[in-house]
Amino acid sequence: MPATKIAASGLTDVGLVREENQDAIYVDQDLGLYLVLDGMGGHAGGATASRTGREVIVDMMRHGLVQGREPAALLGEAIRAAGARIHLDANRNRELHGMGTTFVGIIVPHPNLAVIAHVGDSRAYVMRDQRLTRLTADHTVVAELVALGKLTPQEAHNHPHSSVLSRNLGGLPTTEVEFSQFEVLRGDRLLLCSDGLNGYATHGAIEKTLGGAQDPESAARDLVELAKRGGGGDNVSAVVIDIGPRPGDTIATSTLPQENGAQAWWRRRPLFMDVCQRMGLAQSSVAAGLEEAEAMEILAGSFCEAVYHDLENTTGVHVWTFADSLVSAWFAQDGAYLPIQELFDILRAGSLAVVKDVSQGDQNFGVCLEIALLRSLIVGEMVVGGQIGGQIQTINEELTSMEQASELPETTFSGNATIPFEDMQVSGASDPEVTLSLKLAFDATRKQLESDGHPTLRNILAATHASAEVFAGTEDLSNTARELYGTHLLTEQDLGPIINALDRCRDAHLHELLEQQEVSGEALSTAFARLSLAHQALFHAFSIVVVEAGRPTTDRLQELTEQTKNLRTKMANNEEQLSQPTVADMQPEDSES
Ligand code: CA
Repeated sequence: MPATKIAASGLTDVGLVREENQDAIYVDQDLGLYLVLDGMGGHAGGATASRTGREVIVDMMRHGLVQGREPAALLGEAIRAAGARIHLDANRNRELHGMGTTFVGIIVPHPNLAVIAHVGDSRAYVMRDQRLTRLTADHTVVAELVALGKLTPQEAHNHPHSSVLSRNLGGLPTTEVEFSQFEVLRGDRLLLCSDGLNGYATHGAIEKTLGGAQDPESAARDLVELAKRGGGGDNVSAVVIDIGPRPGDTIATSTLPQENGAQAWWRRRPLFMDVCQRMGLAQSSVAAGLEEAEAMEILAGSFCEAVYHDLENTTGVHVWTFADSLVSAWFAQDGAYLPIQELFDILRAGSLAVVKDVSQGDQNFGVCLEIALLRSLIVGEMVVGGQIGGQIQTINEELTSMEQASELPETTFSGNATIPFEDMQVSGASDPEVTLSLKLAFDATRKQLESDGHPTLRNILAATHASAEVFAGTEDLSNTARELYGTHLLTEQDLGPIINALDRCRDAHLHELLEQQEVSGEALSTAFARLSLAHQALFHAFSIVVVEAGRPTTDRLQELTEQTKNLRTKMANNEEQLSQPTVADMQPEDSES
């Protein structure tokens, strides 16, 4: 059934009075088979009859459908076999004597066809255009007398034995099964139920409850609750089958998210964790000494939670705290920058996998979520940058004092090539050796990146070099940032490539600088500080452009969140109203004509 998507769910409940649930249900979307059976007779008989019936029918259907049997004929055969089997068991075992069961089943062999079979008073209904219609006639003695014209409906209504069944599965060795076909339409909601539902709730209440539920699962749950509020004097079962998306829902679900960004994110936590795990997060040296599961929880799990809280409150404070405590602990034990950078790369990849998944359902919503997530990630990286800036400053100070003691090891920087995000004191404004050093680094990097021919990389390189050459970091790089960003649209969804280009360029540029043997340690240190600040300034300018560009979309996200919140409140109010039973709800369904 590729064209029509079917969703189904069922629930059976002992009710409020009976001690045992003698109903049995079956829901199988793969087979397209849905059943409700209501057992009767003896102490153990009822439950045995309904379960045996279900077992025989499901078994035969499963095997027969695999062999390509015609579904309706197969179902008839299976029901009759079930009746024969129950009858046989009842005669063999004194305790089960007289047992039997009702049966109502639907198979959906084609996208637009339902075949309904029933025996007894379990029912099938269809909900179409918010109207509930019954599809089966009860097999009671009285109803069959009415059908034969021997009783009027009025007489039947007042008949003392109105609920005595005229047929069941198992009472006799053979059973007459009533079949009907029904053309289903997209948007139909089918209901199968035992008399524990329609005996304890009015037609109108069933209609209202079934029509008001979001999905089959909540519909089945609400109907069982409805029967209980009506007294719950019998076992109650409901199986609800949705044929395709409901026509009225089509627009609503594509423009209104069913959940806000935080919920969409949190629901995909397993996906996020899985991507992080596969990218080797637990093997990161930041996680050294931790068991894999522990590492996943501490690094990916807490990040995921922090993002959730930030999305929920539209702040960055949780990710900031996460990054701050993680990175300060890491640097406190002399950790290097690279593993932290790799860690954040993995977290970013996991986040973007979530965005991709969200976008498949709703592209606009995906774009909004991506902006919010990138903001979280930028906050995280800013924190890392700030911490690293502090580290570099410490090293600088150490260097200066060592310089004063005239023993300067040239390799000190190389293990910590990175981007500082804090202000640093930069000296030597017009030192030709610094200019030379920057020029050499620029040329070497340009050569290295040339093979890529990527205009973004060249732009970044030129802008940062020019900025570092003039002076450090204080240059206004917002025009360059706008140019970089200007070639991309928000709807392209993925700002990752630009951020990657920024990272790549920065790494290569600083690395080439540190390779230099030609200049003095002092000039190298100054050049490094300037270049670092230039990269910082560009990154900073870029994140401002992103945040600015994302403002309309984040406003939209907020607006959508507000709408979802209103819908929720509305639903909560409705539920509250429903939970106060009206007089009509208390009446059994006999008022139905
Ligand atoms: Ca019953």
